[in-house]
Amino acid sequence: METSLLPFPKTILSFLDQSIMGQDDAKRKIAAAAYQHYMTHSAKTMGAIESTPRSNFLLFGPTGSGKTLIAKTLADFLKLPFIQVDLTHFVSTGYVGEPLGSIIQKILGASKNRWHAEKAILFFDEFDKIAGSQMREKDVTGFALQAELRKMMEGGVHSWRDRAGAEHVLNSSGVFFIFAGAFPSLPKIIERRIGAERIGFPCPSSSKKQEKRDFELLSQALPEDFDKLGFLPEIIGRMGDFAALQPLGERVMESILLYAKGSPLKAVQDFFRLHAIELEFSKNAIRTTARKALKLSTGARALSTILGNIIEDLRFQCPDLQEQGVRAILVEDIGKDGCPIFKVRKGKPAGIQKRQAFQAQVFSDCAPQRIEQKKTRKAREMHAPREGFLQGEVSSEKNDCAPENEGTQGKGQGIPKQRKGVNNEFHQKQNLMRFAAEKQRKRREMRKLICDQIEEEKKAGAPVEKLSKASTTKLLSWLMDIYDETGERFFTSFLERIRYRGRSLASLHQVLMNCEGKSVPTVLFFWDYWEALKEEKERGENL
Ligand code: ADP
Repeated sequence: METSLLPFPKTILSFLDQSIMGQDDAKRKIAAAAYQHYMTHSAKTMGAIESTPRSNFLLFGPTGSGKTLIAKTLADFLKLPFIQVDLTHFVSTGYVGEPLGSIIQKILGASKNRWHAEKAILFFDEFDKIAGSQMREKDVTGFALQAELRKMMEGGVHSWRDRAGAEHVLNSSGVFFIFAGAFPSLPKIIERRIGAERIGFPCPSSSKKQEKRDFELLSQALPEDFDKLGFLPEIIGRMGDFAALQPLGERVMESILLYAKGSPLKAVQDFFRLHAIELEFSKNAIRTTARKALKLSTGARALSTILGNIIEDLRFQCPDLQEQGVRAILVEDIGKDGCPIFKVRKGKPAGIQKRQAFQAQVFSDCAPQRIEQKKTRKAREMHAPREGFLQGEVSSEKNDCAPENEGTQGKGQGIPKQRKGVNNEFHQKQNLMRFAAEKQRKRREMRKLICDQIEEEKKAGAPVEKLSKASTTKLLSWLMDIYDETGERFFTSFLERIRYRGRSLASLHQVLMNCEGKSVPTVLFFWDYWEALKEEKERGENL
């Protein structure tokens, strides 16, 4: 992701809207905060600005209200690594327990290269559980841990040595930190600060009213309230923004079932569709499901549990219903016993062959062939001769791309041969076709992206003669997504080569077109070849 590729806050928001129901304030704030963070970080890296504003984010609200979902969806949209850590697992360095530094290793492990790692979204859950206590003598999970966390939030280069002695280094300046917690005692603190009567609520009579009142209070949180809870002012002061999440009401629970991208109802419907059965829930049934889920007080998490209970029997009978010719099931309501009251529509049994094909796939996938392939890969790793980096990568790429070659490549190196047989060949062919189709799709995507970028720059009146740093990085990030199987080393060298030569976009375009479908090492080779040709031409040697 690069600044010119960075979507506007409204685009981020509309993507979040597809998965997260309600929580409008939090979604809006986080969209703006993420945009600001990545925009200013890139600008600082490029030397356009001196300092960046604080951009860490704090989300607080009841469990199951969508804190993790917001952060995860944001990372998905921006195509950045998402690392979720539970802060209750960590202790201050030097004490028994997981040290905070190990997060560096986690980030690097979750990212496809350093460029991505340094822009990761790091989600710290259970932030409220690391509140410090003056009573504890050695507060290794409270104030001391917060102090270490503060250092990480400041950015700069951090290193961590694992137990095997390997050093992991990461610059955390571009990492977007999101903290989350329920903060159950925060409303009381805010209430004390502002005085309950000032917000005009009488003492709440029901738990629903209590939740509403808590949310009203949480929306008025100030940094000093967190200080009182046992948080270092320095750490709260580093939060660029914070947002309170609302407890989910019946309406929102209903809309999660009906419209959210990850709706548990949609997942169940998809499962039935695999059996050529349309499963529908009436308005009544949706409302009852939402009400039942609300009673569990675990937010939207309860929807999956309740729905699972409701359709338990139908799910069990699903393949039989298909064979009996059931084409649609309408759940009209949920009985007091929690069982669905439903009607079925029958027709000619459909989709049975398709289902059988899926079933066959399940078994053929875990049959000896799969195990054999795993063995082959392991054996290859163990027996492969130590080659140069480039050679090693190229051969591993071949192996990954062409499964039918595995048997021959393994010959003489102690690698078990692949199981021969019609079934095996069929699967190899299928794999190959899938791989080829995927590569073709990616190539088409890349060609389009590059052309769009050129058009965009032309329209914006950007100097197309000189390739801007932003465009280079953007093009390269596509390249990385599409071609990189060899990792960071090639990427870095490729980036350096292009960025500092200040070539024209059209030239890069030409090179990339020549390299279409090739791996990064080949692209590098083409690049050098093309460079040499150009130089010769300029010297008049190659006319
Ligand atoms: P928490 O606030 O405890 O981090 P999560 O984000 O993990 O809650 O939510 C748990 C599950 O509930 C998610 O997987 C998601 O499916 C669902 N969920 C929670 N809140 C929402 C919401 N506002 N919109 C859609 N789904 C939600």
